Amino acid sequence: MTDEMKTLFDFLEVPLDDSTSVLERFSGLPGAISSGTGQDRSVYVPGSREDRAVLVAHADTYWPDGPARSSITDLVTDGHTVRSTDPSKGIGADDRAGCAILWLLRDSGHSLLVLDGEEGGRIGANWLMRNRPEIARELNGSHRFMLEFDRRNSRDLKRYYVGTDRFLAYVEKSMPGFRRAMHAPGSEDRSSFTDICTLCSDVCGINVSVGYRNEHTPAECLVLGDWLNTLETARRWLCDSGELPRYPLALND
Ligand SMILES: [Zn+2]
Repeated sequence: MTDEMKTLFDFLEVPLDDSTSVLERFSGLPGAISSGTGQDRSVYVPGSREDRAVLVAHADTYWPDGPARSSITDLVTDGHTVRSTDPSKGIGADDRAGCAILWLLRDSGHSLLVLDGEEGGRIGANWLMRNRPEIARELNGSHRFMLEFDRRNSRDLKRYYVGTDRFLAYVEKSMPGFRRAMHAPGSEDRSSFTDICTLCSDVCGINVSVGYRNEHTPAECLVLGDWLNTLETARRWLCDSGELPRYPLALND
């Protein structure tokens, strides 16, 4: 197993109701700033690059209550897909798969932001924006854009209402093979909410597929090749291309 896959399984093996372990892992990184208590929590790790982006993921899963899953014994993989053997619960790849990507990009020079309470209505993101104005300003003022690794399927880009047309076109070009999420042919899917809808006040953001399917159901699974493709495509873009432009969240842009 590669180091990258080991990291992924480390995150998938965290019990479904244990956001704390995920947040603590990030809070141990140099410069990390932990905020809030309970589901209000977040960990922000400021990046060092001049042209840095904010990489976002959420530590909580859809199953905050009930007995903690007994980690690896409830995961099964055929080498292509990971599933749960627990008939009542999925695997928490939404969004532990995204957290694993952030961890693997922790030395990229980009900022990291890991939040709790996304599934409960962006609780950690709302708390951060209301109660840590200096961080809210920095996220929006000192970054080129935000990228949340939290989306079903293999190659979707979902901008909700925090991505301009120019930004969407730029991300489609920068992540070859990835395309805007669609409801139906000709109808872009911008419905619902996630952390970036709260976090992006002045700068654009977008959510990227991390390979899970059937999230929020016991049939949840993760396609390993899709997860790895997102990691590698994002890494090439964020680490190995030229200077990243800033995309302000301006109306009519
Ligand atoms: Zn999610």
